[in-house]
Amino acid sequence: MQASQMNNSRSISERVAGARTAFRRGASRPVAWRRGQLEALERMLVAEESEFCEALSSDLGKPAPEAWLTEVSFVIQASQFARKNLDRWTRSRPVNTPVFAMPGRSRVRPEPLGTVLIIAPWNYPLQLCLAPLVTAISAGNCAVIKPSELAPATASALARLLPRYLDPECVVVIEGGVDASTQLLDEPWGHIVFTGGARVAKIVMSAAARHLSPVTLELGGKSPCVVLPDANLEVAARRIAWGRFTNAGQTCIAPDYVLTDAHTRDRLVPLLRNEIEQMFGEDPSRSPDYGRIINETHFDRLLGLMEGAQCVVGGDSRRESLYIAPTVISPAAADQACMQDEIFGPLLPILDSPDLDTAIAHIRSKPKPLSAYLFSKDRKAQARFEDEVSAGSICLNDVMLFMAIEDLPFGGVGNSGMGNYKGEGGFHNLSHDKAVLSRSLWPDWALRYAPISSAKMKWLRRLR
Ligand code: NAD
Repeated sequence: MQASQMNNSRSISERVAGARTAFRRGASRPVAWRRGQLEALERMLVAEESEFCEALSSDLGKPAPEAWLTEVSFVIQASQFARKNLDRWTRSRPVNTPVFAMPGRSRVRPEPLGTVLIIAPWNYPLQLCLAPLVTAISAGNCAVIKPSELAPATASALARLLPRYLDPECVVVIEGGVDASTQLLDEPWGHIVFTGGARVAKIVMSAAARHLSPVTLELGGKSPCVVLPDANLEVAARRIAWGRFTNAGQTCIAPDYVLTDAHTRDRLVPLLRNEIEQMFGEDPSRSPDYGRIINETHFDRLLGLMEGAQCVVGGDSRRESLYIAPTVISPAAADQACMQDEIFGPLLPILDSPDLDTAIAHIRSKPKPLSAYLFSKDRKAQARFEDEVSAGSICLNDVMLFMAIEDLPFGGVGNSGMGNYKGEGGFHNLSHDKAVLSRSLWPDWALRYAPISSAKMKWLRRLR
C-alpha cells in the first residue's frame, strides 16, 4: 500500500493526533531535523518538478515556465533562505539585563508553537501550501496542510508526494473541501495560517477564538496602481501587463486597477495593448504562456464584471476552455461592477484620477489593500505615496517583485490580512519568543522584600 493511500484511509482526527503526538515527543524540535526536512522538500521539488507542473497545468492551465517560476522555484528559494538562516534564527538572543536584575543573564529563546494548520487557496496551490510549511518547519513545528479542493490535481500530488520525502508523522496533508476544513478548525492549533478570502477568514478566526489558537490571515483585496504622467509609460505598461495577466490575473498582489489622468490613460492603453500582444501574441488563447480561469463559477463571475464595461483590449472569452482574454477596461467608473470587489481575473480597469492627491485620497477611502503600486520618476511623489498609503506592501515603479525578496516581510494590513509567514518575520510569527532570565543566587539584596523602609524606597527609585 502506498503512503498516500494508507494516509487517506486514516481519519482526519487520527492523523492530526499523530502529528500532535510527534510534536509532543519533540520529533520536530532538533535543528538538524528541520534542516533535513527542508533539504528533503527541496529534493522533492527538483525530482518531482514535472509532476507538479502537470498538476498545475491541469488545475489552472498554468504554463510550465510560470509554474516553475512562481511556485516550484519560489518555494525552493524560500527553503534555501530558511536553511541558510536557521542557526541564527533559532539561537537564543541575549538582551540587556538592567542593574536591578544583576547579576543575571536575559535572553529571548524562540520555541516552536506546536502543530500548525495551513489552509491554502487554489490560485498558487503549491506555493501557498509549501511556503508556509517552510516556515512552520523552520520554527520546529509539525504541520497539517489543507490544500484547496478547487485545485484537486495539485492537492492530490501533494498528498501523494510529500509523505514520500518528508516525515509523514510530522507533516500531514488532508485533502478535502469545506467539511475537512470545518473538522480541522474544530481542533486546537499551535497556530493557523490561512490564505484565502475575507469571508472564510472570518469563519477561521471565530473557530480559532474557541481555542485561543493564534492566526495569520493572508487575504486579498483591490491593489491599486497609480500611474503619473511623468512615468516611463512603456516600462509601466509592460510591468503592469505582466503583473495583471500572470496566472490569468488570479494573483492576490496583482495590480487590480489603474488610477491615472485622462491624458496619460490615452497614452497608456495602446502601450498595454502592444505589451499584451508582445507577451501572448495576437490571439492569447493560443499562447502557451497564458493560463486559464480555475472553474466555471469564477469564469461566470468574471464575465459578469465585464457586462456593460468598455473593453478597449481583449474582452473575448470561451467558456468550454475557461479562457478569458487579457482585457483592459477603459475608462472605468467607480460604481462599475469591476470596481466593487477584488477582480481576481484578467481584467484591468483604468479609472480616471487627475493627480496624486486624488489617487491617494481614493486609496485611503477604501479598505487597506494587500499591495499598492506607483509608477513615477518623481522622488517627492514616491516619498508621499510611501508615507501616506497604508498597504501590506508598497512597490515603486514595478509590481509584485517584492514577493521574491526574502528579506522583505509579506503580509496584509486591515482587511488584507494580519501576520506574516515569510522569512525571519514569519519564523518569529510561528514561534513563541520565550523570555528567559537566569539569576545568580548571590547576592540576594534585601531591597525588594518587605518591610520597605523609606531608605529602601529611595534606593528602589534610584535603581529604576
Ligand atoms: P477561499 O477563502 O474561498 O478558500 C480558501 C481555503 O478555505 C480553501 O482551502 C477552502 O477549502 C477553505 N474554505 C472554504 N470555505 C470554507 C469554510 N466555510 N470553512 C472553512 N474553510 C473553508 O479562497 P480562494 O477562493 O481559494 O482564494 C482566493 C482568495 O485568496 C482571494 O481573495 C485572494 O486574494 C486570496 N489570496 C491571498 C493571498 C495572500 O498571500 N495574501 C494569496 C493567494 C490568494
